[in-house]
Amino acid sequence: MKNIAVIGAGTMGNGIAHTFAQFNFKVNLIDIQQASLDKGLATITKNLDRMVLKETISETDKTNTLKNITTFTNLEEGVKSVDLVVEAATENLDLKLKIFRDLDKFCSKDAILASNTSSISITQIAAATSRPQQVIGMHFMNPVPIMKLVEIIKGYSTSDATYSTVESLSKELKKVPVEVNDYPGFVANRILMPMINEAIETLYNGVAGVKEIDTVMMLGMAHPMGPLALADFIGLDVCLSILKVMYDGFKNPKYAPCPLLVNMVMAGKLGAKSGEGFYDYSENRKAEVVSKMFLK
Ligand code: NAD
Repeated sequence: MKNIAVIGAGTMGNGIAHTFAQFNFKVNLIDIQQASLDKGLATITKNLDRMVLKETISETDKTNTLKNITTFTNLEEGVKSVDLVVEAATENLDLKLKIFRDLDKFCSKDAILASNTSSISITQIAAATSRPQQVIGMHFMNPVPIMKLVEIIKGYSTSDATYSTVESLSKELKKVPVEVNDYPGFVANRILMPMINEAIETLYNGVAGVKEIDTVMMLGMAHPMGPLALADFIGLDVCLSILKVMYDGFKNPKYAPCPLLVNMVMAGKLGAKSGEGFYDYSENRKAEVVSKMFLK
């Protein structure tokens, strides 16, 4: 398996393309917007430069990695001769169902179709195709070139052969694959999101401030980042949508999103990407606590 297509050149897509290309796979990077492809390639170049500077890779490795990536805005052209597709387009059920129906039409019959979705059911995506046994979740973590974990999600119909292929492929990328079954939130988000939600609830109840909550978790539990800073990094809209999927999927009130999170998303305070979340990123991305108002 040497020819890969990555759909979506955003935060995750460019990282996934970078990683496959660095390990000598030929990567077709596909996005609907040329501007996203240009931005994605610029990010990959910047990240490779940083790796050269740190002497993790050589200048030749950088050149070869970039040579391994070809960009496309046409889905059919980009996927017609690949062995594996990793879909990392916007998190939206209808969009993903449409992409997988198209992939089923355009890809060779042996191709494996993987999704990097954080929360959408792999079983549901697979059911949109005529090859559900070849559909699987390949959930990389952000930033992809650095983070070791790949959660591999087996849908209801995913075959053992598909699982083994994707497992060995992840090892070729020097990642650590972990096998997970297809239930809301998989493993990573099922455990992470309730913790983030509880941190927001603790702030909402006026128990402590943003910095205080994050400091407790960093210094007390040895987390590299506090849960509120992490929520800002992931995107508060993303956190909210994952919690909603778990709340709908399990019908258990413990997954109900905190009203403060809902309000912040409605107000457009989405975290680092919008310039403000629990911290203020407007001035030189210098984090300043903005949520003192929630303290009694
Ligand atoms: P993003 O918004 O940064 O990028 C999405 C890209 O998809 C955009 O460039 C957009 O133009 C493109 N796109 C939209 N429709 C398309 C289509 N029909 N064909 C091709 N490209 C299309 O999003 P992201 O954060 O990279 O997330 C992508 C996926 O990865 C989502 O499913 C998300 O849940 C998952 N994920 C995200 C993270 C994270 O930390 N951001 C972590 C793990 C998984």
